[in-house]
Amino acid sequence: MARHANPFPRPSVPEVTAASGARLLEGGAIAEEIRTAVAEDVATFTAARGRPPGLRVVIVGKDAPSTVYLERILRGCAKVGIDAGFVELEGEATGTRVTSTVRELNKDGSVDGVIVQMPLPPTIRLRAVIDAIDPAKDIDGIHPLNAGLLRLGYDGFLPATAHAAVEILRRSGIGIEGRDAVVIGRSAVVGMPAAFLLVREDATVTVCHSRTRDLAGHVRRAEIVVVAAGVPGLVTGQMLRPGAVVVDVGINVVDGRIVGDVDFASAREVASAITPVPGGVGPLTNALLLTHLIRAAERQAPVPPSIAQPAHSRGDR
Ligand code: NAP
Repeated sequence: MARHANPFPRPSVPEVTAASGARLLEGGAIAEEIRTAVAEDVATFTAARGRPPGLRVVIVGKDAPSTVYLERILRGCAKVGIDAGFVELEGEATGTRVTSTVRELNKDGSVDGVIVQMPLPPTIRLRAVIDAIDPAKDIDGIHPLNAGLLRLGYDGFLPATAHAAVEILRRSGIGIEGRDAVVIGRSAVVGMPAAFLLVREDATVTVCHSRTRDLAGHVRRAEIVVVAAGVPGLVTGQMLRPGAVVVDVGINVVDGRIVGDVDFASAREVASAITPVPGGVGPLTNALLLTHLIRAAERQAPVPPSIAQPAHSRGDR
């Protein structure tokens, strides 16, 4: 397996030092670029394999708050020609029912990627469900095998949000190598993978969490701050080092509005670059998920001998 492989070429890296009104790092345009490339890959795959790449999302409980997110994924897939659908289980479904559904999808040759929509009802043992996902179809990188590959610096599937948090920096030409970075949040799906990805990009990384004693002190020293805590307004401009680059992963609803974990108004006065919420990491997350799916599909689906291309013309991603 390739080590330290990145799915996209490394852009040129201008230095970011001055704080004269932050540059907005918007995910929309980058996501559009990615979707255009994915649509081409999907067309090539479909022509070669005689079927489109397939994604299934397992959702437990009709009123799950994640329904909006799910609809967004399905719409994004439809736009680029991916065969996406969901398997809906009733809210009272047992853990065994969820894992057996996942195992059926693992066996289905027309399904290349499987996502289990979180959060699951508290009665279901999360670990058993995660373990049931075939790592080759785990396009959101939650299976321990993929988490381990990331930890070791190998090329597995990355959790899409963490991937987006770092990819938005790379694609915006923000230098990461050698920088002091702070990640706030240590969850298995966002904080920790974002931290490992930053280390992989040669940043020096500190991970903060709810028991961190001097959060402001750590943030003050950081040139790059990635915030994934789920606490609105946790990071303010007063805490930031002038010229810092701020990636706000948080999604919170406050008074009916979606806001991040960063107090945007004060932070943008001090930072040199900042992601808005909404419109920053979010759009990129969904687009990157599509790239993970096409990669899973290309790795799994054998090419029928009648239409097989010479190996050198199929890029192994
Ligand atoms: P999570 O599992 O609840 O983890 C939150 C992390 O933040 C924990 O490690 C927690 O520390 C830490 N934390 C909480 N309060 C803190 C505080 N006051 N000071 C410092 N650290 C604190 O959440 P998650 O799933 O990682 O998600 C994080 C955020 O990202 C949420 O707002 C979520 O909605 C958002 N999100 C965004 C996307 C996207 O596409 N943009 C996707 C997924 C999630 P402990 O470990 O000590 O508890």
